[in-house]
Amino acid sequence: MGSRRNFLEKLTVSAIGIPLLYNSTSLFAATESAYEGPMLRVAIMGLGSYGTRVAEAMQSCKRAKLVGVISGTPSKVEAWQAKYGVPKKNCYNYENFDKIKDNPDIDAVYVITPNGLHCEQSIRVAKAGKHVICEKPMAINAEEGQKMVDACKAANVKLLIGYRMHFEPKTVEVIRMRKAGEFGKPKFFQGLSGFVIGDPSQWRLNKKLSGGGAMMDIGIYSINGARYMLGEEPIWVTAQETKTDPVKFKEGIDETIQFQMGFPSGAVASCLSTYAMNNLDRFFMTAEDGYVEMWPSTGYGPIEGSTHKGKLTQPHITHQTLQMDGMAQLIFENVQPIVPVDGEEGVKDMKIVDAIFKAAKTGDKIAL
Ligand code: NAD
Repeated sequence: MGSRRNFLEKLTVSAIGIPLLYNSTSLFAATESAYEGPMLRVAIMGLGSYGTRVAEAMQSCKRAKLVGVISGTPSKVEAWQAKYGVPKKNCYNYENFDKIKDNPDIDAVYVITPNGLHCEQSIRVAKAGKHVICEKPMAINAEEGQKMVDACKAANVKLLIGYRMHFEPKTVEVIRMRKAGEFGKPKFFQGLSGFVIGDPSQWRLNKKLSGGGAMMDIGIYSINGARYMLGEEPIWVTAQETKTDPVKFKEGIDETIQFQMGFPSGAVASCLSTYAMNNLDRFFMTAEDGYVEMWPSTGYGPIEGSTHKGKLTQPHITHQTLQMDGMAQLIFENVQPIVPVDGEEGVKDMKIVDAIFKAAKTGDKIAL
């Protein structure tokens, strides 16, 4: 850990004030210069399992720092204060966090709560004048997502969605290759996203808090992946739902959905989203002149993959460390990731989720 931090601290910083393209592989072009630029001071809202993972990963960031917490559980707040040196003045609960507007020591709030709370909480953060980083899915439908985009625009703050794969080195390399034409014209994408979910009482299986089942949680990786692997936006979807356990997966909580997407070029995608099968974290894309397979493709890593040119060898770095440093660069230097992570990107995925649910319910081919 220490040596990686030292390594990261030696990386070059681009201080050019014009839009640049973030390239995580450039992180490995180490120089002797230490980072002396601005630090993104982040408060995490929701100290659950993923919030904890982000906090740990941020310990290795050089451009972003955990400085505050928002939680409904005082014992967790105390534990985080002790562990991460969070000062008491930067600790809030769900009732009083609007007061963060009077706190000049916090730049951004990272919303890592159940999906059904993201919209209202993100809008409150925006109204408090802080940048919003919000976990995926950004909301429970596109209408909510758009409200978040509008609120952040009105408040003149950034809205970024926790799309950590957009900073992951092997994923970034595949997107670079596709953009450079190294695969030729993409023709077909297959995305398999799923795992067997446990505890039936968890919020992920509660429609009000989750907005849906596997699709909201894990299927969204195949939707987003299809878009960045093929480099196009879908124009239609079809979908079929299967439910084997209607007690565990109640009305509005999808257990398994297979879905297909069609793209303007004629490329197609075929995907599986499920809470009922393991070993499903695989992307495959074939194109006129080549192919790529990634398995695992979106887990916490290391990501593994190969193309028609051979194995992908980019190193593994904790995704959330790269993401938070990348988001700090985006906010301070307007360095854009290879695929956007902004609210508009989130809304694009939510529109597709809405259409997939509609297609699964009606059996119709839904135009986008
Ligand atoms: P979790 O259950 O572990 O944590 C959720 C947190 O929200 C808890 O601290 C809980 O106390 C708090 N909370 C606040 N109000 C709540 C309420 N009314 N009901 C239940 N909990 C409430 O969940 P998680 O796995 O940390 O997921 C949180 C978010 O992060 C979700 O949107 C999820 O999709 C996202 N996530 C993203 C990734 C990723 O790789 N990007 C991975 C896991 C989770």
